[in-house]
Amino acid sequence: MVCIYCSSDTKVTNSRLQKRSNSVWRRRHCKGCGSIFSTKEHVDYEKSIVVQSPEGAISPFLRDKLFTSIYRSCQHRETALQDTIGITDTVIDKIWNLSQDGKLNAEVIAAATMKTLKRFDQPAAISYQAFHADVL
Ligand SMILES: [Zn+2]
Repeated sequence: MVCIYCSSDTKVTNSRLQKRSNSVWRRRHCKGCGSIFSTKEHVDYEKSIVVQSPEGAISPFLRDKLFTSIYRSCQHRETALQDTIGITDTVIDKIWNLSQDGKLNAEVIAAATMKTLKRFDQPAAISYQAFHADVL
């Protein structure tokens, strides 16, 4: 990877597997300007999982779509943004193991999200359910 400031080559000086988010964090040092910055390597969900709607339509799994649907249900919370980031990661951890062929039904995603929200915040779960009545 090249430097975000000067586009020179960089060297990895530290690397850690982050099990909870199934990602790898790396500290990089620029060989050109000496800047230090961090990167994170994640699974490319969009290219790895497809979602099947109840009608049978197939679309790529979009983390942002899941994030947005959870955020909409958590907006009443003062810490909605941070909460949504954590809940989205938790839901992805749960559903990731349920796909053996790279395909997930929308119902499975909605059920996992609902279960997570119910344990976290009842009003958020009720809001989510209202928006996803077609798959719950
Ligand atoms: Zn640089």
